[in-house]
Amino acid sequence: MARQHTLSIIKPDATRRNLTGQINAKFESAGLRIVAQKRLQLTQAQAEAFYAVHSARPFFAGLVAFMISGPVVAQVLEGEDAIARNRAIMGATDPKKAEPGTIRAAFAEDIEANSVHGSDSVETAAAEIAFFFSGLEIVG
Ligand code: ATP
Ligand code: MG
Repeated sequence: MARQHTLSIIKPDATRRNLTGQINAKFESAGLRIVAQKRLQLTQAQAEAFYAVHSARPFFAGLVAFMISGPVVAQVLEGEDAIARNRAIMGATDPKKAEPGTIRAAFAEDIEANSVHGSDSVETAAAEIAFFFSGLEIVG
């Protein structure tokens, strides 16, 4: 397996409950390195652009409203097989279906306010990292 980068977002439900450090500890103890990180307040246009792939879904308007309801922490995670590894650490989208020990099982409030985002392929990871970070900001 190759060393990869993936884009992670700690979502507003988690920043509101002061869980950034506990979530980061799960990434680090699972062998992922946080090689870029910033906290920001997304605008509506930015949230719509980031989740454009979901624009036709019935939950899109609610998802955008949730993603701008408070600050997020955008991160680049690095490690062997980082994209799939991060998805495993996150757990299923719906926390009721997430494996015990995953971030979503531990912290998510519901299927929408589910604490973290993670890229789902090499292609989306590259696009999503470029959405938030310049190369200069990623320090491995
Ligand atoms: P993410 O892309 O945030 O990492 P994911 O890949 O597990 O999550 P997606 O299907 O890409 O799930 O959905 C994107 C996000 O939209 C979910 O993380 C969640 O916040 C929200 N979402 C997904 N399905 C629903 C739903 N049925 N109702 C409400 N919100 C939903
Ligand atoms: Mg997704």
